[in-house]
Amino acid sequence: MSMPTTPATLDRFITPAHQALWAATDDFATQEILPRVDRMESAPQRVNRSIARSLAGRGWFGVTVPEAFGGMQAGHVAKTILIHRLARVSGAAAAILQAGLIPVTALDYYGTEDQRTTLMPGVADGSVLMSIAVTEPDQGGHIGGMHSAAEWDGSAWVLTGIKAHVGNSHIANLHVVIARTAPPGTRTSKALTAFLVRANQRGVDVMRHTGKLGLRGFSFGQISFDRVRVLPENVLGEVGQGFDVAQSSSILCGRPNLSAVSLGLHETAVSLTGQYVSNRPRYNGKLADLSVIRERLGRMSARLITARILTYHAVDMLDRGLSCDAELIAAKSLGHDLASRTGNDAMELHAANGLDADYPLQRVWRDMQTTYAPAGTGEVQRRRLAENLLEEEAGTKARTPYSVLHSRPHAAPVTDQTVSI
Ligand SMILES: Cc1cc2nc3c(=O)[nH]c(=O)nc-3n(C[C@H](O)[C@H](O)[C@H](O)COP(=O)(O)OP(=O)(O)OC[C@H]3O[C@@H](n4cnc5c(N)ncnc54)[C@H](O)[C@@H]3O)c2cc1C
Repeated sequence: MSMPTTPATLDRFITPAHQALWAATDDFATQEILPRVDRMESAPQRVNRSIARSLAGRGWFGVTVPEAFGGMQAGHVAKTILIHRLARVSGAAAAILQAGLIPVTALDYYGTEDQRTTLMPGVADGSVLMSIAVTEPDQGGHIGGMHSAAEWDGSAWVLTGIKAHVGNSHIANLHVVIARTAPPGTRTSKALTAFLVRANQRGVDVMRHTGKLGLRGFSFGQISFDRVRVLPENVLGEVGQGFDVAQSSSILCGRPNLSAVSLGLHETAVSLTGQYVSNRPRYNGKLADLSVIRERLGRMSARLITARILTYHAVDMLDRGLSCDAELIAAKSLGHDLASRTGNDAMELHAANGLDADYPLQRVWRDMQTTYAPAGTGEVQRRRLAENLLEEEAGTKARTPYSVLHSRPHAAPVTDQTVSI
């Protein structure tokens, strides 16, 4: 195993165990993921299944699963290391891991003892791969607009609807599906319920996978549910608590996971550009000798340092049980913005040579476009940040620690109706 190379910027967040995980992830990414990248890129319609198996073999879908169930119980900083370091080599591999981890948090917080005892060991050993299905073709981030619904028939819930852009749609074998269970007019915060649905249940179908701009190999497609029967023991949380399940998954897991994906892509864009301008001849020296190029590189470096601090600072707060809603939002939202600006600079500094299909920068740039929508689009996140700020200014903001808000079986706070996984 290679020596850990964690940047000094992150020293206050990184323990020796984290350093070992960092090095192990880098080795894994180089040896197991890198050789698969070209094949995934050349076949946008294909769903990669083997990466999830390799990640499962390492036990990394169990990074946040309690040790009592065979998991690593390693926390959010450790989870971030895994996603971030994978994303440096492949945004798709990082996406496969991050999407599989979001519903694990929901199961851990809202699952009954029976559900956790039955399912968590499978998550830890990789035999249970979960997805969370909230978004619908017409509804987007407005969860209150969802059409999927489940009706009680006297012995089971009967679930019908279509979910869209579901991370790991084609490879997950257990879906957490959010659907409407209350009559029209009921407040969204009470109208939805989360269901555990097996991918092989009658009435569950994944739609044909279509290629996307980025994250090739990762499936984030549509799943249809046609009169799927769900027994009461497979309701996750209470009936009527589906909004809380979706929202807390997005807050606790979606945002930091997406920050980590952005960070890995950001690092690779900076690194490729540094190498390129250092080697590209210009006049009697190299491109990197020109002050105008250095000025741009300096800005890229400043953005990367900022994104690193934002990402790890927020998850460190989460691990310590501190109130960090605003920090998680800022890390996700700014993480994407900063990476995108760097991605554009990187493309421009490579000029025509950045466009070659077999040069990694264009893949990284395309993958960067995929981190805007999930876990809260920019507009939605900025609105939340503004609300936080105004409440703080008015002295009405209660900064409640996450350890209290999210310790089982306590529900997540319900603050608005816009949720994005
Ligand atoms: C890579 C990837 C993985 C994903 N994984 C999952 C998953 O695992 N499970 C899942 O359920 N979904 C997943 N999604 C879907 C994701 O959650 C949605 O894309 C997100 O909720 C936004 O919905 P939308 O794309 O339909 O955009 P919309 O919500 O329709 O938004 C369109 C535009 O309108 C703006 N807008 C929307 N509402 C407002 C408002 N109130 N005020 C101002 N502007 C607004 C948005 O910012 C955006 O610019 C994933 C998406 C991607 C790209």
